[in-house]
Amino acid sequence: MNPAQKTMSPLDPVHAHMRLVGSQTQALKKLGVSLVRDLLYHFPARYSEAITPKNIATLTAGDKALVRGKLLKLEKTKAFRKKIPLTRAELHDASGKIRVVWFHQPYLAGMLREGEFLDLTGKVTQDAKGLYLANPESEHSSGTSLSATGNLLGENVRPDAETAMQPIYPESRGITSRWFFYALKKVLARNVHKALEDPIPEEILKKYHLPSLHTALVWIHNPKKATDAEAARKRFAFEEIFLLQVERQRARKSYRAHTSFPIAPKEKDVHEFLARLPFSLTAAQEKAVGHILADFKKPAPMSRLLEGDVGSGKTAVAAATAWSVVTSRPVGQNFGNLQVALMAPTEILARQHFDSFVNYFAHLPISLGLITGSGCKKFPSKVDPREATATSHAQLLRWVASGEIAFLVGTHALIQKKVQFKNLAYTIIDEQHRFGTMQRFALRKKEGPVPHLLSMTATPIPRTLALTIYGDLDLSLLDEMPPGRKPVITKIVPPSARSAAYEEMRGELSRGRQAYIVCPKIELGEGKLEVKNVTDEAARLKKEVFPEYTIAILHSKIKPSEREEIMERFLAKEIDILVCTSVIEVGVSVPNATLIVIEGAERFGLAQLHQFRGRVLRSTTQAFCYLMADAKGSRAKDRLKAIESAGSGFALAELDLKMRGPGELSGRKQWGISDLGMEAIRNIKMVEAARLEATALVEKDPELKNYPLLLDRVGRAVSAVHLE
Ligand code: ADP
Ligand code: MG
Repeated sequence: MNPAQKTMSPLDPVHAHMRLVGSQTQALKKLGVSLVRDLLYHFPARYSEAITPKNIATLTAGDKALVRGKLLKLEKTKAFRKKIPLTRAELHDASGKIRVVWFHQPYLAGMLREGEFLDLTGKVTQDAKGLYLANPESEHSSGTSLSATGNLLGENVRPDAETAMQPIYPESRGITSRWFFYALKKVLARNVHKALEDPIPEEILKKYHLPSLHTALVWIHNPKKATDAEAARKRFAFEEIFLLQVERQRARKSYRAHTSFPIAPKEKDVHEFLARLPFSLTAAQEKAVGHILADFKKPAPMSRLLEGDVGSGKTAVAAATAWSVVTSRPVGQNFGNLQVALMAPTEILARQHFDSFVNYFAHLPISLGLITGSGCKKFPSKVDPREATATSHAQLLRWVASGEIAFLVGTHALIQKKVQFKNLAYTIIDEQHRFGTMQRFALRKKEGPVPHLLSMTATPIPRTLALTIYGDLDLSLLDEMPPGRKPVITKIVPPSARSAAYEEMRGELSRGRQAYIVCPKIELGEGKLEVKNVTDEAARLKKEVFPEYTIAILHSKIKPSEREEIMERFLAKEIDILVCTSVIEVGVSVPNATLIVIEGAERFGLAQLHQFRGRVLRSTTQAFCYLMADAKGSRAKDRLKAIESAGSGFALAELDLKMRGPGELSGRKQWGISDLGMEAIRNIKMVEAARLEATALVEKDPELKNYPLLLDRVGRAVSAVHLE
C-alpha cells in the first residue's frame, strides 16, 4: 500500500496545507515543493499544443510523438566503457513496436517495470538498426496499476481532449512535466486549491483587473486560452512583487521607527575636507553626498543604497560623509567623536579601505582601526604617528568600546558580538550584495540609537529590479565616471584574429602589465565542449601561448582564504595572468592590470561585460578589453557592438532586460525572485503599482492586523529571500 494514497485521499480542501507524501517526495522537496500548496505554486514555464497519440507503425524519423504501448525487453546497462547509465526497452502497440533508449537517467530506470503500459513522448530518431525513441518522457497509461509507482492519487487522469494548451513544467530531479500536469490536474479537479485564501486584498485585484487566486490557479495550470494563461501569470507575478514590497516596506518602516544620532555637519567643514582630495567630485558624487548629509539631519536613521559602476568613486562619497560623522561630537558632549564602521566582504578589500581612509583622515585628531580574521591594526601608531601599527584583538576592541577609535574598518569580524561601539552613528557596507540579509541586519541591531546605514554596490541592475529588491532603501546613483579616464580600447575578436590579439597582449605584458582572462566555466563537463573553462584554458595558455608568464586561476570552487591569497599575489605582481570566472574578486583594485580578455563574450549580459571591463578602467594607462566571440549570429554581434559605445552599466542593464529578458541579468540567482517574478521586472508599470499599493497598505496597517493572510505569506517571502 502506498502511503501517498492513504494520506492524500480523500482530497478535501483542507489538504492544501498538507505535506505531499509518496515516492516522489524527496525529489519534490529538493524543488521546494513539500505541501500541496507548493505544488499549486509550481507554475508551468510555458505552454505547448497538446499532442495526440500516434500508432507506432505510422512513425517517421524526426517526429516528436506521443505513443502508447506495453514496455518489453527492459534492460539496464552501461554504455561507453560503462560510464553512462543506459536503459533500453521496446514499446509495443497493436500496430507495431519501437526501440526506446534512455541515457543518463538512472532514477528513471529504477521506476520502469517490464510489462507495464506507458505513454512515451519523445523524438523519433533513426540509426542503422531503424527507428528508436531517444530519452522520451514517460507516463503511465490507463489500464495499469499506478499505485506501484506512487502516483499522487493512485488514479489516472489525462489531458482533456479540448485542452488546446498543454502546460510545460520545469523538469528537474527526475520529475517530468507530465507528472506535474497529472498531479495538478487531480488537485484542481478535487478543488483542493479552494482551501487557499487570496493574500492580495480584493480591492487591489479589482483596481488592476487581476484574476482571483482560485481562478488564476486554474488558468495558469489548465488554461483554455492563451489570454487566460497570460492574465494568471500576470497576477502571480504581481503577487510575488507585491509581497516582496510589503515585506521591504515593513522593514523600512520598522527601521525608521528608531532614533538615530543627530549629525549636523557644517557645510563649510565638508568643503574643507573635499578640498583636500586630489580631485573634485563628479556631479553624481556631489548629489549623493548631498542626499546623505540631508538624511543625517533627520531624526530617523538613514538606510540608503549607493549604486555605481566599478570605478565610479563610491569610496570618496563614503569618505566625505564618514568625515562629517567622525568630526561630530555625541549630543551634549564637548569631547569625543561619533563612530563609523565600514564592512567589506574580503580581507584584502578591508585592508585597501583602511589604507585609503588613513590617507583621507590622517590630518584629523582621530584614530582608525582595522579588524579582520587574521589581525588588527590601529592608526596612528604611538611610535610613528604617520604609520599604522599592528595591535591585539583585545586591545582594539577596548579602543572601539571606549570610543577612542572613531573609524573602524573590517570584514565579517566587525559584526561579532564582542565588538561593542560607544557611539556608532554610521555604518557603511561595501559590496553589499556579497553579504546576506542577516548580516545586513546584524550591524543594525546594536543597542541605543540606530546607526545611519549606507550600502554600496556595483551591481548594475535595472530600476524596476532595484525598486523591488531594495524597496527598503533609498537610492543614490553614481551614473557618471570621474573625468579624464582614458576609455578602454574594446575589440571584438573573431576566431581568426585570436593570435593577433595574443601578440598585442604580449606587448603589454612585456611592459610589465597584467591581465585577466575571464572564462564562462570552471572546468570541463559543465555544459558544451566549445565553451572555454578556466582549468583547461589556463593550462593551454601556459603551454601554447604565454609560457614565459606566471598564470594562476581563480573561481568560486576555490576556498575563500585561498582566493584572497591569489588576489594578494596578483596585486603584488607575482602573477601576470589571472584566468578566472565571472566571480573575479569584487572591488579590489589592481591598477597595473590593464588587460582583460572575455572568452565566450556573447554568453554574458552587456551590463556584466561592462562591469568586467570596469576592472581595467584607469585614468593614467591605456587599457584594453578583448571580447572573444565566435558569434555567428549578427544579433549577437550587434549586442557586443553596443558595448563599444556603452553608457553606464545601468543603461546596459536596461538594454539587457529589453533585448535578452530578465533571465540574463547578472547575479539574478541571488535575488530570490522566481522566473515568473522576474518577468514582472520588465514591466515598470506593474512594479510601480505593486510598490504603490504595498507602501499605502503598510502605511495604513504596519502590523498587517487586518491582513492575516498577507502577514502569513510575507513571513514566507522573507524566508525565501537570501541575498548571499
Ligand atoms: P568604486 O566606486 O569602484 O568603489 P573607487 O571609490 O575605488 O571606485 O574609485 C576609483 C578610483 O577613482 C580611485 O582611485 C579614486 O581615487 C578615483 N576617484 C574617485 N572619485 C574621483 C573623481 N571625482 N575624480 C577623479 N578620480 C576619482
Ligand atoms: Mg569600491
